Amino acid sequence: MPESSASIAFKKNQLPPPSNRRAVLRRHMRDLEEKGWSCAACTGVCCTFVANSMRITPVEARDLRRWLESEGRWTPELIASLRDCVTRFRLDQDAGDGRRSLRKTYTCPFYTNSRLGCSIHPDHKPYGCLAFNARRPGITDGGTCASAQDLLQQREALFPEENALNHALAPDPSPRPIPLALLTWCPGPETGP
Ligand code: SF4
Ligand code: SF4
Repeated sequence: MPESSASIAFKKNQLPPPSNRRAVLRRHMRDLEEKGWSCAACTGVCCTFVANSMRITPVEARDLRRWLESEGRWTPELIASLRDCVTRFRLDQDAGDGRRSLRKTYTCPFYTNSRLGCSIHPDHKPYGCLAFNARRPGITDGGTCASAQDLLQQREALFPEENALNHALAPDPSPRPIPLALLTWCPGPETGP
């Protein structure tokens, strides 16, 4: 029986480029923007501790780490800010009641504290960030925004090999807050032992 493309990709530890894996989400964003449902005038409250509890998988963490490195941004200063964020918002401590885990909110280290919002190129952003958008025109401080869950599922179905790679990269690939995921799953000489 011929080997599936998913199996070959997994063995090679390869996936389609990050931009391909985000294309469906970026198209959706463009469609919303054409309707005037844009984030352009918003302070980006969805990236702060007020509303942000974004979690990412090992593959998303790897995409982000590789891009940060290519941009010369994987620096001791960035690593320190990731660690500060984990400590400040206690992202490495379970907030659950013993039966279920609660999602903690945190201000993302990649939030620029301005209307420029996120400092990550959309082709390398977490999928959940791209799927979360304004749902009416003229939003300035969040409020009427939502995540396109159906589109996230469609995207996942387009790249079945990604799930296998997540399990190959981490014994427990359950999504984690962005800074914790980067520090845990993308270790290197710069991140210490
Ligand atoms: S990666 Fe960007 S869009 Fe996602 S939470 Fe962080 S600042 Fe916001
Ligand atoms: S409009 Fe909503 S999704 Fe867009 S940046 Fe503001 S809070 Fe986030």
